[in-house]
Amino acid sequence: MKKVAVLTSGGDSPGMNAAIRAVVRKCIYHNVDVYGVMYGYQGLIEGHIEKLEIGSVGDIIHRGGTKLHSARCEDFKTEEGQRKGINELKERGIEGLIVIGGDGSFRGAEKLSEKGFPCIGVPATIDNDIAGTDYTIGFDTALNTIIDAVDKIRDTATSHERTYVIEVMGRDAGDLALWAGLAAGAESILIPEKEDDFQDVVTRLHRGRERGKKHSIIILAEGVASGIEYGKRIEEATNLEVRVTVLGHIQRGGSPTAFDRVLASRLGAEAVNILLAGESGIMVGIRNNRIVADDLSQVLSTKHIIEEKMFDLSKELSI
Ligand code: ADP
Repeated sequence: MKKVAVLTSGGDSPGMNAAIRAVVRKCIYHNVDVYGVMYGYQGLIEGHIEKLEIGSVGDIIHRGGTKLHSARCEDFKTEEGQRKGINELKERGIEGLIVIGGDGSFRGAEKLSEKGFPCIGVPATIDNDIAGTDYTIGFDTALNTIIDAVDKIRDTATSHERTYVIEVMGRDAGDLALWAGLAAGAESILIPEKEDDFQDVVTRLHRGRERGKKHSIIILAEGVASGIEYGKRIEEATNLEVRVTVLGHIQRGGSPTAFDRVLASRLGAEAVNILLAGESGIMVGIRNNRIVADDLSQVLSTKHIIEEKMFDLSKELSI
């Protein structure tokens, strides 16, 4: 293989740039030409493809977002869109593609592999919702952004003796809320994987107040309920003064943590190794600090599950 392309797709996440850098530098290290596809699959269909050099990825390892930009593209879900994309690559003599993104992006990569175009997936999403890898690129940074915000909110919650509901990202996956809740010592954590036990939330608040607690923090994943509505429910049920903060898109940006940069560098480099070894339809991941490779079909047909013991522990520690 002498020419390889890389793209970022779907929701962006901090560390995507470090992964692009690793792909580009590893290709050049192996004397392979590397091309960047701009704007994900949309740019692929439109032939928005540029050759990248060593210097193209200089000074980006510490930057959030993605230098290649990202986009969502409905046309790529069609056979015609996928064929167009393959043609754009083949016209330039490109023989393999590395897709940095989440599970939606991997479905696109799987389709290309099925059509005979070699594709490797690199998991990058703040949600940490992909099976086969302990961590996805961007999760650690988003988690630290949340903790930074919660610590600040805690200061004012203590000053004013308030209860705070903090809504974090996670439509279907509760990892961010679970890890943030445990790291911030939240009274209650509400995640989509667990049935909302409203009475338990209320009981914990009352119990805390009875023993003189000045403030309470509840971490709510967006997939469970709207923070605003949940806050109202709690206020009505407890008569406590409740404030709500919806963290929103600050969770997706920012300079990647050292963990995410290292993870992105390792996964990006391994994606190149695997592609050059002639494999296709594979996702690289990390398990027990070892870089691993699994079939995309297996990854996409397996549901990511939360660490149940961490959820139980959060309850035990916030008595
Ligand atoms: P993420 O990769 O972050 O999960 P999306 O679910 O939005 O993000 O998917 C990103 C893009 O991947 C979509 O806009 C589309 O172009 C492509 N994609 C998603 N699902 C499929 C599919 N079933 N077949 C082909 N392409 C898909």
